[in-house]
Amino acid sequence: MNYYSLNKKAPNTSFKNAVIKGLASDKGLYFPETITPLPKSFFDTLDELSNTEIAFQTIKQFVVPDLPETILKNIIEDTLSFNFPIVKLNNNLSVLELFHGPTMAFKDVGARFMARCLGYFNKHNDQQVTVLVATSGDTGGAVANGFLGVKGVNVVILYPKGKVSKVQEKQLTTLGQNITALEVNGTFDDCQDMVKRAFLDNELTNKIQLTSANSINVARWLPQLFYFIFAYKQMYKIHKDIVFSVPSGNFGNVCAGMIAQQLGLPIKHFIAANNKNNVVTRYLKTGNYEPNSAIPTISNAMDVGNPSNFIRIKHIYKNNFKQLKENLSSYSYTDEETKLALIEIFNKYNYIADPHGAVGYLGGKAFIKQNPYMHCIFLETAHPTKFISTVENALKIKLNLPSNIEALMTKKKEALNISNYKDLKSFLLN
Ligand SMILES: *Cc1c(COP(=O)(O)O)cnc(C)c1O
Repeated sequence: MNYYSLNKKAPNTSFKNAVIKGLASDKGLYFPETITPLPKSFFDTLDELSNTEIAFQTIKQFVVPDLPETILKNIIEDTLSFNFPIVKLNNNLSVLELFHGPTMAFKDVGARFMARCLGYFNKHNDQQVTVLVATSGDTGGAVANGFLGVKGVNVVILYPKGKVSKVQEKQLTTLGQNITALEVNGTFDDCQDMVKRAFLDNELTNKIQLTSANSINVARWLPQLFYFIFAYKQMYKIHKDIVFSVPSGNFGNVCAGMIAQQLGLPIKHFIAANNKNNVVTRYLKTGNYEPNSAIPTISNAMDVGNPSNFIRIKHIYKNNFKQLKENLSSYSYTDEETKLALIEIFNKYNYIADPHGAVGYLGGKAFIKQNPYMHCIFLETAHPTKFISTVENALKIKLNLPSNIEALMTKKKEALNISNYKDLKSFLLN
């Protein structure tokens, strides 16, 4: 399978090249040349298939021949070494728990898959690859964990000082080996800007092979389609009309769900649930796309002012606003509403959500109110203990730390402080 740039000014390229480069030379995001739906019979008999079989059948067309089938099978087995359970709250609402991986956020799936692809492509390559990534919280940990010890790959993570949770910070600053954390005096957008600038800096890219591990990278983005299908598999014999509510920041996750839909998964609708960083909510209302700079919220992994994957979503629906609105709704919530949702989910269903999942719940609830015959699965994108103080303060309870997090909290933070692009560049060159 080849990929084209959405800016249409760079040559089409292989999966391997798209993974190594991250972004096309014209700065466009890569998109698969074709998406061939699987037969209806595949989706009718999902409950007879294992998760790894489903993953193999659905991603195969996007990655062969660059990944031979046996290699792909191994990568999938390795990537999906945990569960994706659904908890039913009531007849209209269920939670898909995506936090059973090593860093307890959904990003483990894409990060692990991508790390293994890059490790394979890099096996016979003497040049080191540097994965440069900005994180608003969860990407850093998932990428660090996924790439730890991968030969030939150095990982450099930029995170905004004081704006990620304690658990998140430990997850990205305590690993050592081929992972370096840079603590930036600034916001997530500042981190992201520096990363973008580095990719455009020829002086730098002539000396080192840089790649991204954000959801702009196809190897991080596409595997996220798996769990929409795993969720559907668990529910389709019980509920016919299934919709997904996805707590959204950079819009990679919901966009991957839409690829599952393009492959034939009979999803009726998507809800992109936003915090106050709500450029898409406003766009669907007005037709005007007006990005803002990011506003800090208690669901910090979604504090993105200008979501990079939205362009892929527009492309999927052929830049047709009406068609997009038929498939996607979006709602936006304040921190106050999010805290009340945490309390409501706990009191009504005895379920402890995290702030991102709570935003997803609110979006799902709003949609169900208008469409009461549908069943909405909202994504619990992180474990509540990753945001322990917010959750404990809202619910007035103490949470037990899972044992792996408890061990993590005793490890020593190692990070370099940087303030501007010059600092980043001199670090990368030395
Ligand atoms: C990254 C993240 C999101 C947002 O996902 P996108 O793919 O960027 O839209 C939501 N919740 C959590 C916990 C995250 O880490």
